[in-house]
Amino acid sequence: RHEVPHADPARIAALVAAGRTDALPPACTGFDAYRDAGGYRLLRDCVEGRRDVESVLRAMEDSGLRGLGGAGFPAGRKWRIVRAEPAPRLMAVNIDEGEPGTFKDRNCLETDPHRFLEGMLIAAWAVGVSAIYIYLRDEYAGCRAMLQAELERLRAQPPVPLPEIHLRRGAGAYICGEESAMIESIEGRRGMPRLRPPYVAQVGLFGRPTLAHNFETLYRVREILEKEADWFASHGRNGRRGLRAFSVSGRVKRPGVHLAPAGITLRELIDEHCGGMADGHDLYAYLPGGASGGILPASLAGVPLDFDTLQPHGAFIGSAAVIVLSQQDSAVAAARNLLRFFRDESCGQCTPCRVGTAKTLALIEQPEWHLELLQDLSQVMRDASICGLGQAAPNPVDCVIRYFPHELRQQRRTA
Ligand code: SF4
Repeated sequence: RHEVPHADPARIAALVAAGRTDALPPACTGFDAYRDAGGYRLLRDCVEGRRDVESVLRAMEDSGLRGLGGAGFPAGRKWRIVRAEPAPRLMAVNIDEGEPGTFKDRNCLETDPHRFLEGMLIAAWAVGVSAIYIYLRDEYAGCRAMLQAELERLRAQPPVPLPEIHLRRGAGAYICGEESAMIESIEGRRGMPRLRPPYVAQVGLFGRPTLAHNFETLYRVREILEKEADWFASHGRNGRRGLRAFSVSGRVKRPGVHLAPAGITLRELIDEHCGGMADGHDLYAYLPGGASGGILPASLAGVPLDFDTLQPHGAFIGSAAVIVLSQQDSAVAAARNLLRFFRDESCGQCTPCRVGTAKTLALIEQPEWHLELLQDLSQVMRDASICGLGQAAPNPVDCVIRYFPHELRQQRRTA
């Protein structure tokens, strides 16, 4: 049963008249439909003592669910670590979803918001959280309207006593997807990553131990606990465990969000979920993890897509934003585009990233790349940047040097 439970006809008409269709609240499974279909029963079982915390923690650990925002930290272990810290404990939910090519969280949120909210509340119960802060990117204006309305419905008919739930707006900075920058932003400061240790599990929001999670990780919780850990784990392929949502874009017949086994290869993902390559396009290269995850050639389309599997090839899966390139695209052009993005989005706090992204871009905009200098610069950025943005920014350039030297020769010849 799909509905637009919060639809206010006058507001919708005004948005359409103003050309703000991006701000229209999406149709979704609303509170009543979700509850009537058995939603929030699992949460009640937990809170009312029919499930105990230890069995839930063990199920989460056995499922092999890892943080699906990109870092891949095992979710069950994280719950246990934060639970062991002194109260009051807080929770921060990251729906900043700013990685280029990533749109899975939005898709799931727009479809089934209460599945996410129930997973979030179960995590809060298991860890003993007293207040939750949901950090939603400002660009998702329609989602915010919908989520606000659904939260109001939940508060009006709470299935169990609820902790405080705050909905906070991001302001468009990519770096605020980094958990400590998100926490700074929630606290009202400029979003700049913190040096670690201490980790946010110990000293997070407002100085309290904090459970920080990406949206999709929490979205998977209900199904894992209802269908058992083995069910989830058994979905993996090529020796990997679990399911995850891939945001696929680029030269395929059916781009979009595809739920697929962790460890599926790019070739399998394209053939089984995306209807094959788009007409007139052959696979040339792909970005397995958005802007940060590197650029791989078609010859590596048989590598399992999961945490840890791509590192030997100089890439990583991150939030599983897969961008498919064809013979009509260029890895050099993609690398330039990505470095422009990193230069603009660097928070500027540390020199290796602030200066390194700008210098790298200036070097790769030349017709002849100074390879030795670029490799030196990459190493410094990797070793000395404070956070993942600066550490991953050289990935596209390193991949071009490693896998696409023919493009560099070609641009030298035509310069
Ligand atoms: Fe900021 Fe870049 Fe340093 Fe991260 S690596 S703290 S984004 S300047």
